[in-house]
Amino acid sequence: MNKPTSIPGQFDAVVVGAGFSGLYMLYRLRQLGLSVKGFDSAGDVGGTWYWNRYPGARCDIATPDYTYSFDPELEKEWTWSEKYATQPEILDYLRFVADRYGLRPDIEFSTTVTSARWDEQEKRWTITTGRGEEIRCRYYIMATGCLSMPKSPDIEGVGRFGGQVYFTSRWPHEGVDFTGQRVAVIGTGSSGIQVIPLIARQASQLTVFQRTPNFSIPAHNGPAPADRLKQLDEDRDGYRHAARWSRIGVPNEPTDVLGVTASEAVRRERFEAAWRQGELVGIVSVFADQLLNPASNDIVAEMIREKVRSIVKDSETAEALCPKDHYFGTKRPCLDTGYFDTYNLPHVRLVDLRKQPIVSITEDGIETAEESFGFDAIVYATGFDAMTGALAAADVTGRDGLSLKEKWAAGPSTYLGLMTAGFPNFFMLTGPGSPSVLSNMAVSIEQHVDWVAGCLEDMREAGLDTIEPTELAESGWNQHVQDCGAITLMPTANSWYMGANVPGKPRVFLPYIGGVDAYRQACDDVVEQGYLGFRMTGPGGARCRDGVIRRMQPDVAMVLDLIATLGLPPMETLSADDARALLAATAANRPPGPEVDQVTDGVIPGPAGDLPYRLYRPAGPSEGPRPLVVYFHGGGWVLGNLDSDDPLCRDLCERSGAVIVSVNYRHAPEDRFPAAALDAFAAVQWADANAIELGGIPGQLAVAGWSAGANVAAVACQLARDAGGPHISGQLLICPVVDSDLARPSYQENGDGYILTTALMKWFWDHYADAADRGDPRAAPLRGDLQGLPPACIVAADFDPLRDEGVGYARALEAAGAPVRLARARGHTHTSVTMVDVVISGAPVRAEIGEALRNFFLPPNRP
Ligand SMILES: Cc1cc2nc3c(=O)[nH]c(=O)nc-3n(C[C@H](O)[C@H](O)[C@H](O)COP(=O)(O)OP(=O)(O)OC[C@H]3O[C@@H](n4cnc5c(N)ncnc54)[C@H](O)[C@@H]3O)c2cc1C
Repeated sequence: MNKPTSIPGQFDAVVVGAGFSGLYMLYRLRQLGLSVKGFDSAGDVGGTWYWNRYPGARCDIATPDYTYSFDPELEKEWTWSEKYATQPEILDYLRFVADRYGLRPDIEFSTTVTSARWDEQEKRWTITTGRGEEIRCRYYIMATGCLSMPKSPDIEGVGRFGGQVYFTSRWPHEGVDFTGQRVAVIGTGSSGIQVIPLIARQASQLTVFQRTPNFSIPAHNGPAPADRLKQLDEDRDGYRHAARWSRIGVPNEPTDVLGVTASEAVRRERFEAAWRQGELVGIVSVFADQLLNPASNDIVAEMIREKVRSIVKDSETAEALCPKDHYFGTKRPCLDTGYFDTYNLPHVRLVDLRKQPIVSITEDGIETAEESFGFDAIVYATGFDAMTGALAAADVTGRDGLSLKEKWAAGPSTYLGLMTAGFPNFFMLTGPGSPSVLSNMAVSIEQHVDWVAGCLEDMREAGLDTIEPTELAESGWNQHVQDCGAITLMPTANSWYMGANVPGKPRVFLPYIGGVDAYRQACDDVVEQGYLGFRMTGPGGARCRDGVIRRMQPDVAMVLDLIATLGLPPMETLSADDARALLAATAANRPPGPEVDQVTDGVIPGPAGDLPYRLYRPAGPSEGPRPLVVYFHGGGWVLGNLDSDDPLCRDLCERSGAVIVSVNYRHAPEDRFPAAALDAFAAVQWADANAIELGGIPGQLAVAGWSAGANVAAVACQLARDAGGPHISGQLLICPVVDSDLARPSYQENGDGYILTTALMKWFWDHYADAADRGDPRAAPLRGDLQGLPPACIVAADFDPLRDEGVGYARALEAAGAPVRLARARGHTHTSVTMVDVVISGAPVRAEIGEALRNFFLPPNRP
């Protein structure tokens, strides 16, 4: 690919789509000196803004932001007239861009690409168009849009209507005059909400058919915002940089105000400010936790509903317009101009399809379960087959005859949303697995295009001309995309983000919600790490550094980032007392954990004095006795107490249905080895002997612990076996210390940067046990006799220095005949699984733990 291809019908690259993405891609490829051919089914450039010409069509990201930023000269030459420009103005802009850079001659309009097939021998794509042309190219780039494939309405009798039919996404270029007409609009998503007020101005009668009410806030449109223009004027580069490194592609200071803890006054003030501002970026970030925590989300949602009720005069209509079946932001929120007011007009009516579903479209109107309506025109605002529709429709066939449709039958699979394994040299812009529709797309598009162009340039320099992601890198990215979605409320909604609007489409969260900034960082890191996860070949040889770019759970990474900003001293540099004080201070503001039925404190007679304990009794239908779990807190035998693990104990209690007795054993350095282990065993003996008084079921006793607490729990099991009792039904060991060997690979991999470090672990051991004692099975239970021990559930976290000893203990116990459940805490650190209601991704691991605890008490583990 050193020189542009000059054989007729052969190009270095084909770009399908001539919207925001395709135009910029063409421009960048040309800059690289490549021969490029563009196609678009549309008659001209513009993409979204070519097709969606309905009255009221506007962007909903303020135009100073929704614009190209790659060329400062271009920015100087164009001035937006409004905060939210209309479709004609945005289309004019894209035409202006096409003309300014002379892009049109390279694009064939009114031409649909119908198929693309990879030729493995030639290392080229063969592209076929609806006009029957065949074009060959090395790089095939689909800039086909996330919202470009209209969804056909799935309503009985659609073809039957004899009046005028319009689709917002395919609006006639000459416009439509509805004056004096009886008009139906079906659909109340973004397009419906924009078009309805304008049709109402003309129609003699407007009936809106609504299946799902949507959250919308007033756009407060007007001139382009002066404050933003001023910022751009003063420091354009700084402003654009801030946009590129923001969460959604618009400069915005993230808030740390939590909806659940903010005062009523703060909540109201923040919401009203966002309402007045009229921008999506404001209303989706009233509270830091509004997309994570249902209670916080409800606060914003209810305030929007209040507004709707205050605007719409008819209370039944108002109620029908209030969304109640999804969390705010889990479906695309809308900006509107007079949408809710429109329902106060006497000739406008809302039909709630939840109450009276459409039975059929008829020759002269619409029949619902309760009424027949006559219309002159029907407008469908029924949305798109989002994110995958246009890609799947274009019949792309990769290596070994595998089609994209087949590969994606259970949902799309991409690396960075840009490429997919088995389809070499095939790039998608704003593909599934990229931030795309959750962002200011102008910013995301520029980033994608720049990445692809940079990649092709790097390949050329290295003498490489074929690129494809590895399966490992791709599945790792897919997992990360789903992990990011899973900690939010997004998957709870039947939204087009989830593919739920298209019958039969797999239910998968399609975009990447980690943020524009996090996504950009991941893409940059891939390059930085030698195109990690890509296989590249060409005359210059072959190279592949396989791997996964993001393995850590997103909320664990956020917590680590937050802790890093606090600048805390390393624990191992402190005295034991100072370290204890620091731990207590950092725990002060954390969420309390779930409610349980009863919490009581008491003391146990230990071998060297009383040991405090705290008992948690689960809420539940029965007041009767429950199985008993004796729990030991973490803290390296030095730190921790009954309070430190309180939220975790509540969580274990609620999930297992068992009575949890959390015991505070003696700590080092005041009481060194084997004090903690002996206390633990004494506590188990005492709990067994006092089961009835504790509300337990005699004979149904398990032990549990985290970290060093898991160490003493494991030791207690060995001591109980040696002593001939008590019978222990199971041992739950969360990230246990089971050996004193700090040379395992997990120490090498995770010994620094994940809270529990090798240095800290060494500090713990130094405080707890003399070197000569560290091989004693009461300190290192992995070195003991493992025959005849109770069933175990062992949690091993990926980013824990102790991971390998936990896994080693699981294997050794299993080899010795004990039933073992190894719960892999994927993407977690030593501490994150225990961070109840802070690290949301820990909840599934704790659910598994809860199940394991319950299973301990099922036969045959019972005596
Ligand atoms: C009504 C509406 C309002 C929007 N408002 C905003 C907003 O305010 N802010 C924002 O960030 N985003 C908005 N979006 C999203 C918008 O789609 C993107 O911002 C952006 O315009 C996408 O550009 P694109 O070039 O990637 O895709 P598109 O603009 O969708 O262009 C894709 C082009 O590919 C062509 N194509 C597809 N398949 C083929 C094929 N097989 N052969 C030939 N041609 C093909 C299509 O004809 C289309 O012209 C809006 C979307 C809609 C529908």
